[in-house]
Amino acid sequence: MIIDCHGHYTTSPRQHEAWRTEQIAAHKEGRAAPPRPAISDDEIHASIVNGQLKLQQERGTDLTIFSPRAAGMGHHLGDATTSEAWATACNELIHRVCTQFPRNFVGVCMLPQTAGVSPRNCIAELERCVLQYGFVGCNLNPDPSGGFWQDPPLGDRYWYPLYEKLVELDVPAMIHVSAACNPAFHTTGSHYLNGDTAAFMQCLTSDLFKNFPTLKFIIPHGGGAVPYHWGRFRGIAQDMKLPPLTEHLLNNVFFDTCVYHLPGQELLAKVIPLDNILFASEMIGAVRGIDPETGHHYDDTKRYIEELPLSPGDKARLYEGNARRVYGRLSAQLAKQGGH
Ligand SMILES: [Zn+2]
Repeated sequence: MIIDCHGHYTTSPRQHEAWRTEQIAAHKEGRAAPPRPAISDDEIHASIVNGQLKLQQERGTDLTIFSPRAAGMGHHLGDATTSEAWATACNELIHRVCTQFPRNFVGVCMLPQTAGVSPRNCIAELERCVLQYGFVGCNLNPDPSGGFWQDPPLGDRYWYPLYEKLVELDVPAMIHVSAACNPAFHTTGSHYLNGDTAAFMQCLTSDLFKNFPTLKFIIPHGGGAVPYHWGRFRGIAQDMKLPPLTEHLLNNVFFDTCVYHLPGQELLAKVIPLDNILFASEMIGAVRGIDPETGHHYDDTKRYIEELPLSPGDKARLYEGNARRVYGRLSAQLAKQGGH
């Protein structure tokens, strides 16, 4: 079985995102948000059958761990109330997709974060999504300010109430920023990769996993700059008299394979222990074109994995076993959804 642990609902029916624009406009003008638009089951069906499901079938993957559009989370917009209403709407749509396509999608929620507002605020929505919808994880934005990094780093106790709930529910967090509102950053080109790299470093310099030995983070986009600069991170940890990174972080930190060329995948698999790598593509997402050098979509990451010198057992861990281990509720949820 091939589990893609990183997919967003980037093809949601148009009125969904249109409502978000109206909601934020209303907030700016001090008006109440308009009622949420009706979205029919047929519209959801069409958006998936002609989008993610089609690509799953074409590329030969089986299941996508599916969450709301990351750039659309927009935690820097509005306030805690608008974030809560938006997260509720987005997560509900994911649940409807998973209900319609229970063999192909399992849900992960976005959190109603707001810059400067305690992550404690996210607990109720996380709990609702996991316990009522059967979601198996969440996306945690380490920078709700959208490129200004105004909140404390991930190792800070500020985040602990949320971590306590993640551990209690046995769900991991994918550390995933949203859109950049700082013009110095390009959202998917630099802000995402900066977010990944910064989050890893924040974990490295903290005692987070000493305090939460079972907390699990997935650093997406191949870990940003981390695997490429593994020697630098190891050296910094050594200078700080920290344990080796394998001991200090790799029981808790995992990387996905959203790297869009073969040399990058080769490096990832060579540097990071295989037990810490989860298959993912992030389709349909940041890079939608075809690589003229290969004739295939950049984000068809399975093609690169197939070229790595891995044993069948290694491949099975990367494609399936590691995801089932990191997403502690996944196997039970799949059984419940009647597939796999
Ligand atoms: Zn993503």
